[in-house]
Amino acid sequence: MAEDPRDWEIETQAVRGGLMRTEFGEISEALFLNQSFAYESAAAADRRFSGAEPGFIYQRFGNPTTQMFEDRLALLEGAEACKATASGMAAVQLALMGLVRAGDHIVAGRALFGSCRWILSEWMPRFGVETTYVDATDLDAWKNAVRPNTRAFLVESPANPLLEVTAIGAVAEIAHAAGAKLVVDNVFATPIFQKPLALGADIVVYSATKHIDGQGRVLGGAILGAAELMTEAYKDMHRHTGPALSPFNAWVLLKGLETLELRVRRQTETAAKVADAVAAHGKALKTIYPGRPDHPQAAIIANQMTGGGNVVAFDLGSREAAWRFLDALQIVDISNNLGDAKSMATHPCTTTHRSMPEAERLEIGLTEGWVRMSVGLEGARDLVRDVSRALDAA
Ligand SMILES: *Cc1c(COP(=O)(O)O)cnc(C)c1O
Repeated sequence: MAEDPRDWEIETQAVRGGLMRTEFGEISEALFLNQSFAYESAAAADRRFSGAEPGFIYQRFGNPTTQMFEDRLALLEGAEACKATASGMAAVQLALMGLVRAGDHIVAGRALFGSCRWILSEWMPRFGVETTYVDATDLDAWKNAVRPNTRAFLVESPANPLLEVTAIGAVAEIAHAAGAKLVVDNVFATPIFQKPLALGADIVVYSATKHIDGQGRVLGGAILGAAELMTEAYKDMHRHTGPALSPFNAWVLLKGLETLELRVRRQTETAAKVADAVAAHGKALKTIYPGRPDHPQAAIIANQMTGGGNVVAFDLGSREAAWRFLDALQIVDISNNLGDAKSMATHPCTTTHRSMPEAERLEIGLTEGWVRMSVGLEGARDLVRDVSRALDAA
């Protein structure tokens, strides 16, 4: 009997999933830097366009390298279908736009990536779609926010920047009872540590720019879900509005998937050591890491995540202390990306979350002293030494 890749271990899926070889039998996936495809006859073109015959037509619709990336990520996620996009934001935008129309309503966790908040607060209202923000840890708040016209729920878990965790299964039940779909931004957990679809979510989105590339090179994104919903909500929109991922970037991300599990596990091991070192140092007023038992939602994490991830957040009490910490780092970079091989730390209030009004920042607990650190692949002892020295300086 032929092996079913869906039964493979995630490590095998990451290396071999979606592989399509040409007649040359190349080991590393081929890069089809290619826009259009020739048809054997006019009748063949007709069949291809009508959908009667499978095959590629145009890069905006699909490309063999991009498809290998989509098929591989779908396998890792346990999703029936995946559509790759040019960035994580293209994925979020498409994921939401495909579910709503004028007059509809969205409920979203209030701790969200800044650009996601902009889409909901500034962009969607132009098309008559309103959003209610809720404390994502409060199930009653989700329930109470539902209106007759609610069509979509959006949540990021763990959320940026303070790593708040939402009970995905419970929120999915509330969404479904309201006739809405739940979209989960799974960037921080990665497909290695959390499977939102299995927990009840309808759609998962990724910024592949983060851990999936993991080496600071390209932008990319993806939407994943059941085949029927993906076709109904996104197929035509993706073809005609043009958020297609470049095949070159798809190739980089495809190779990134091969080592994703290895990288994320090592980063997570090191992040746990960094988080413990920060907590033990005494300078931080609070240390938040989803792998520590003192995380505010530790019980939910135990239910739905198999690892804490590579991001640690800690409160140094004031902007001055946070900046002194960042400026004293010698190995870790000051930068706002995450999931990279290189460790980086940022001051969210003045970088990633500077456009968020102060009142909203305070609602999510984001005060001036917070630092968010993405732990990379450097040696744990070097990182702990660098961070401890910078804490002394803070
Ligand atoms: C980075 C990020 C995005 C946006 O992704 P891009 O690839 O930068 O467009 C969306 N959601 C989360 C949680 C992110 O961290």
